[in-house]
Amino acid sequence: MIDKYSPVFSISVVAKMINVSVQTVRLYEEKGLILPYKSNKGTRKYSLHDVNRLKIIRRMITTQGLNLNGVRLLLSFIPCWCFKGGFDEDCQQCPAGSVTFEPCWTLENVGKKCLNQDCRACPVYRLEINEKNIKDFLARQ
Ligand code: SF4
Repeated sequence: MIDKYSPVFSISVVAKMINVSVQTVRLYEEKGLILPYKSNKGTRKYSLHDVNRLKIIRRMITTQGLNLNGVRLLLSFIPCWCFKGGFDEDCQQCPAGSVTFEPCWTLENVGKKCLNQDCRACPVYRLEINEKNIKDFLARQ
C-alpha cells in the first residue's frame, strides 16, 4: 500500500493519470496550485495526494468554470493560522494573514512559524481542497 503522501510518480505519469499534458502540470506548479517534491537533482515527484489534488483542480476548471487565477484565489482563502495555533503576532506580521491573495505556501516572507517548514508536510497544504471541505472549514471560523 503506497503512503498517500509519498512522492512516487513522475510528472509524465501524473499527466497521464489526470489526462493533461506535462506542460499543464508544470503550469499548475508555476501558479502555486501544486507543490511537487523535488529531488536534489531537481526531479519532480508527486504523491497520490498530489494526484487527487490535481484532479480536484481539473474539476474546478472543467466543470465549475474557474480559471487558474480563480483556483489560486480560492486556495489563498484557506486561513492557515487556524492550523498554526491561531492568529497571533507572528501571523499578524505574515503577508498570508492579511495583505495577499496568494496561497501561503507560495510566499517567501512568511512568519517565523513557517520559516524553513516543509509546506508539503503541513496540514494547510495537505487540506483536501474540495468545495465541501473549504465551505465546512470556513463555516467553522
Ligand atoms: S508551513 Fe507552509 S503551508 Fe503551512 S502554513 Fe506555513 S506557509 Fe502555509
